[in-house]
Amino acid sequence: MKIILTVGHSILKTGSCTSADGRSFGGVLEYAYNKNIVYQAAAYLQSAGHQADILICPELKFGKSTDEREYKLSRVNSGGYDLVCELHLNASRFHNARGCEVLYKSEKGKQVAQRILDRLTTVFGNRGVQRREDLYMLNRVKPTAVMLETFFCDSSDDCALAEKTDVALLIAEGIHGSHISLTPDRPAEGLFSSGMLYRVQTGAFTVCKNAEALKKELQEKDIDAFITVADLGKLFYRVQVGAFSVRKNAVNMQKVLRKAGYDAVIVRA
Ligand SMILES: [Zn+2]
Repeated sequence: MKIILTVGHSILKTGSCTSADGRSFGGVLEYAYNKNIVYQAAAYLQSAGHQADILICPELKFGKSTDEREYKLSRVNSGGYDLVCELHLNASRFHNARGCEVLYKSEKGKQVAQRILDRLTTVFGNRGVQRREDLYMLNRVKPTAVMLETFFCDSSDDCALAEKTDVALLIAEGIHGSHISLTPDRPAEGLFSSGMLYRVQTGAFTVCKNAEALKKELQEKDIDAFITVADLGKLFYRVQVGAFSVRKNAVNMQKVLRKAGYDAVIVRA
């Protein structure tokens, strides 16, 4: 199958994240969690013989959350995909709900949704598959589509279960339809057709303005730098160059940056 895994939500220009945030309830930030597992899920799918691309919205670019929609739809609908699977986490009004639900619209989507639910509910509570007509990722896309609400990001109990579970593997197995035996630690080099594997990081700041200044300085030297946001309890604005699908190219860029007097470490995109 040709699959695209999309990460729900984004970080807006203002630095605020459009996703649910369970951190003040002993949980996780929905967007950051899914962004963290999506590469591994794609790697498992690749190892089972599928093509698996990843779609994450650019960070600090969109003015409003609805900008995410057109960005994703155009890519999902032009890629010739058989399946789109969007990763979300649930949250509840009183922060007391738990469990997994998988959303679908079409009959084909329902079958995939049920398979994924069956794997995820070996760990999380079962809230069932649910037919939804009101979600653009289900009703405006060409491929068969499912949306995961894998667990509740504002439940410390669910998050504790997620912590000791290879959630990416369960999702990949649900999509694949059976067990996946190969368990790569990390995605192998060049594994993703979408690239985005290595970046060279020249700084990480808690103040966005400082990151902007370094980015500008690099750009004035014709180095194509950009900022990504990492959620490590508090937000870090990381200035990076890349991405490179081949590590050697990242190493070459690291040398260029170090020669120019910058800190430069290679990180996984
Ligand atoms: Zn969400």
